[in-house]
Amino acid sequence: MAVPLKFPSEHASAVQPSRAVAILGSTGSIGRNTLAVLRKHPRLRAVALSAASNAELLAEQCREFRPRYAVMANPEHLGELRRRLKSAGTPTEALAGPEALPRIASLPEIDTVMAAIVGAAGLESTLAAIGAGKKVLLANKESLVMAGDLCLRAARESGAVLIPVDSEHNAIFQCLPWSGAALDPAQTRHVEKLVLTCSGGPFLHTPAAEFAAITPAQACRHPKWNMGAKISVDSATLMNKGLEVIEACFLFGMGPDRVEVLIHPQSIVHSLVHYADGSVLAQLGAPDMRIPIAGALAWPERMISGADTLNLAAEEPLEFLPPDRERFPCLGLGMEAARRRGSAPAVVNAANEVAVAAFLAENLPFARIAKLIEAVSAKIPCGEADSLDIILEIDGLARTYAKELIYKGF
Ligand code: NAD
Ligand code: MG
Repeated sequence: MAVPLKFPSEHASAVQPSRAVAILGSTGSIGRNTLAVLRKHPRLRAVALSAASNAELLAEQCREFRPRYAVMANPEHLGELRRRLKSAGTPTEALAGPEALPRIASLPEIDTVMAAIVGAAGLESTLAAIGAGKKVLLANKESLVMAGDLCLRAARESGAVLIPVDSEHNAIFQCLPWSGAALDPAQTRHVEKLVLTCSGGPFLHTPAAEFAAITPAQACRHPKWNMGAKISVDSATLMNKGLEVIEACFLFGMGPDRVEVLIHPQSIVHSLVHYADGSVLAQLGAPDMRIPIAGALAWPERMISGADTLNLAAEEPLEFLPPDRERFPCLGLGMEAARRRGSAPAVVNAANEVAVAAFLAENLPFARIAKLIEAVSAKIPCGEADSLDIILEIDGLARTYAKELIYKGF
């Protein structure tokens, strides 16, 4: 008798081993998308979740996923979280305080950590997950930007597996030959260059003269991706792509002269790898973060993500054009930091975080974001970035100077 064929969805679930996952930043855009993927795969269990201060959503996630731990980064909201968990009859233990995030990132019963906190706030827990030898799904690009050498060294020592979740880096990861280990330097042996695609953001065709009047609401309205506020503003200034160039240099061991940026407004081709023989491999898909998230969770297998199937015949024509570095100077600032290495990326990252927060609070005009980053980078000397203490000190210096400039009406 013929063996009945399995439908892809059955097969996809069947091949997944049971996996215990911690989601750092579960209430954010990446965190919610990760839970949406977990919902489809009951063998992937959320054992720990975390949020900055949204007790209502975190409690609701705990009610549905019944994790063992929930961390509230801001201790002021711990009481509310505990009350909500109790009234929902959820057996989750609620934690807070500075040690709580690194603790859940390195729990022995967890094998996979989704690092989805936004900004420098994610660095210590990402490093804790790497240090504990976990499979680390890296959405928090700022960790790599600030401390790329440190993260990679810690991964080599602990045996942690780093899998990029950022769609471009995940695309490149998928286009490299798999040598049996994630991010093995041998994978890029025949690579000539990497090309990161970039949607161009909401102001791709906006004249520079109109930049001064851009509001936070306009900057957060991304044409293709639905993301958190900080990365949305970064996408509007193109600093996101500058940070991603730095991220790619660290992840794939590439010099910045071999990482290019190409504007691709349709966000269908997520990045490309050029090989020495002239072959170019690309990964395509709908602009839906559940695809790289499912790919990273399942790696080296594949599984259902819940995203729509791409229908290229129904898509608008795919365009590719060079970035306009004059209207979007943040891209050049990121690339320059990638060239300087050392502490330069951490300074750019800190200045950018302060600038974006000030812009969102309507204390800094959109057009001044790049100028502020430039001023801070010129002030803080570039040095080594070989320990967490040094990186945190530099991060603090850059933030203080950036805030001082804004306070003085920069
Ligand atoms: P978001 O703002 O939607 O969510 C951020 C999460 O981090 C939330 O759960 C929030 O509670 C938590 N958080 C914020 N500040 C914190 C703090 N001080 N301490 C502890 N937790 C804190 O952000 P996002 O869009 O999901 O992005 C998360 C990360 O993923 C960022 O590094 C971003 O660059 C990266 N990323 C996001 C996307 C996307 O589609 N959203 C795509 C690629 C990469
Ligand atoms: Mg990206």
